[in-house]
Amino acid sequence: MKKFRKSEQKLSKYIKKLSKLRFKEKARKFVFRIGIYHAADFELIKETPSQKIFPCHAGVLYTGDFSNNLFEKIKLYLDQIFNSFFYSVRNLGEYTFSKVLFFKGIKKEFKEKRKNNKKLKLHPTNKFYKILIEKKKEEDLDMICVITELPIFSSKDDKIIFLFGEAQLQHQCCIVSTLTLKETFYNRIEDQNLFEQRIIKEITHEIGHLILGPNHCQNNSCVMRFSKEVEEIDQKSYKLCENCRNNLNEIRERFNF
Ligand SMILES: [Zn+2]
Ligand SMILES: [Zn+2]
Repeated sequence: MKKFRKSEQKLSKYIKKLSKLRFKEKARKFVFRIGIYHAADFELIKETPSQKIFPCHAGVLYTGDFSNNLFEKIKLYLDQIFNSFFYSVRNLGEYTFSKVLFFKGIKKEFKEKRKNNKKLKLHPTNKFYKILIEKKKEEDLDMICVITELPIFSSKDDKIIFLFGEAQLQHQCCIVSTLTLKETFYNRIEDQNLFEQRIIKEITHEIGHLILGPNHCQNNSCVMRFSKEVEEIDQKSYKLCENCRNNLNEIRERFNF
């Protein structure tokens, strides 16, 4: 146990260092050192894709610090913005794992796959998807989201690192990484209110993809606009623009509710 705790401390030290690195190449080297890697999809293809059903049952899972109060806020916004799309939005509680074991798991899978001569790289984003797909089945949900403080990387484009969030449309699951939503990541004083606003907007954005599809909206104030920098999240609203709301209505009509 002691050993694990030590390694966990080591990992959080790396993450702190990581947050100070503004150069992607440098960051990439660190990322590799802590066992995180960027790669294409793995294993997900084999799973049977879930069919979209609306209204649906959704769940929010989290790792690390997360208050019940924040979940209630998230639920409130999701119910408002995607009005009538959810039968329920459930708090699935904390997904507890040792970060060391989590990365060990990625490495183990990597080794096993390599034995079978299949090309596979270490990738926590896809590891999360695997956990989410299993949890979704277990909890009998149609849609699932995880909020994590770990860094996530694009599963499609290995040049994109430090994503705020990503959605896996085929399996109706998404991830929001809070690491780069914190003011402290940019060496500024933490602002809890701003942090929560960003989380809510990013969850709404990713869930929005699961409902509306992969496209981004060009409307500056729409929550479905793509945000590359944290300031862009702050500039957009929580809400969907009229165009996106019309798309939502079309889906409502299609599913007859
Ligand atoms: Zn997006
Ligand atoms: Zn829009």
